[in-house]
Amino acid sequence: MVSRAKIKELMNESACSHSKDKKPGEGCDKPKPGLAAGGCAFDGAQISLFPYADAVHLVHGPQTCLGASWETRETKTSYEGRDHTQMGFTTGITTNDVIFGGDKRLADSIDYIMENYRPEAIFVYSTCVTALVGDDIDATCKAGSEKHGVPVVPVHAPGFVGSKNLGSRLAGEAVLEHLIGTKEPETTTPYDINLIGDYNVTGDMWQYLPLFEKIGIRVLSSMSGDGRVGDIRTAHRARLNVIVCAKSLITLTRKMQERYGIPWISVSFYGKRDTTFAIREIVNALGDPALIERAEAVIAQAEAELEAKLAPYKALFEGKKAVLNTGGNKAWSIASGLQDLGIEVVATSVAKSTQD
Ligand code: SF4
Repeated sequence: MVSRAKIKELMNESACSHSKDKKPGEGCDKPKPGLAAGGCAFDGAQISLFPYADAVHLVHGPQTCLGASWETRETKTSYEGRDHTQMGFTTGITTNDVIFGGDKRLADSIDYIMENYRPEAIFVYSTCVTALVGDDIDATCKAGSEKHGVPVVPVHAPGFVGSKNLGSRLAGEAVLEHLIGTKEPETTTPYDINLIGDYNVTGDMWQYLPLFEKIGIRVLSSMSGDGRVGDIRTAHRARLNVIVCAKSLITLTRKMQERYGIPWISVSFYGKRDTTFAIREIVNALGDPALIERAEAVIAQAEAELEAKLAPYKALFEGKKAVLNTGGNKAWSIASGLQDLGIEVVATSVAKSTQD
């Protein structure tokens, strides 16, 4: 289960730039009443892991938790097997389970899923009710994993612990503790990276991955856009962690650096300047002069092609101003994309974002 110490640790992430100037215990904003209205911690955890289409996402709670979070974000997958995210799975606990405990119902649900769907893994999300009742989700997941021979990963982010952002961090903890480092990749290259925090919403990863391919950068695993459970299990062999617009997963990359010696950088792929900057950061971090040279050639070609396409829009937007009222990383990443079009961004909100 999720402990107070774990929450405290995640709220005081030393690698967050805004934590450095604060005294111990004054890290990120603490959960406030009503914060779950914009998405609770469970919702944040599920959104972070849901792009794993080869896994079943099992919500251990009343049916309303699944219903409230259903289809909150469209993420694209190229997975050719059965996309398990097209179906909602919940243990649907009742008052009877609240009184007598929901562990048996959870164990039966895991058996049912394995017999009927054979996913690569099952993520089991605790929710407010099952966390308060005190179901031993860790033990049930461990038993299910041993019985069926696939990872059954407990995700301890019940809604009451805090915001969506905190849930995302807790999802990172679950992946780190139960998946990363549990399998070896078939091959490795000196240009292997992990993409952390891009969820391939409406397929945006597929805009920049062809550039990687031309340069020779290989994505070993993704957390979690268009990701595969088998790949994230091998993530410990990557040469670099690339955080994409997601400060909430800094704890994961900081711990992977401590545990596996993988350095990390934080970038964005919104717009021309950010994409160019991101590619340069990646190849410089990988440090191969031939790779850096290839990257510059690809950047020059892609920028020239894009400039030609943007020219009519730039004429249209000349002298225009924008105020952004978005959520999360979009506050700063979309600003950059708009600036590429010649729009002046005069103000932005920080809803669901860190001040940073
Ligand atoms: S986990 Fe808690 S806050 Fe989140 S949807 Fe379920 S009951 Fe609501």
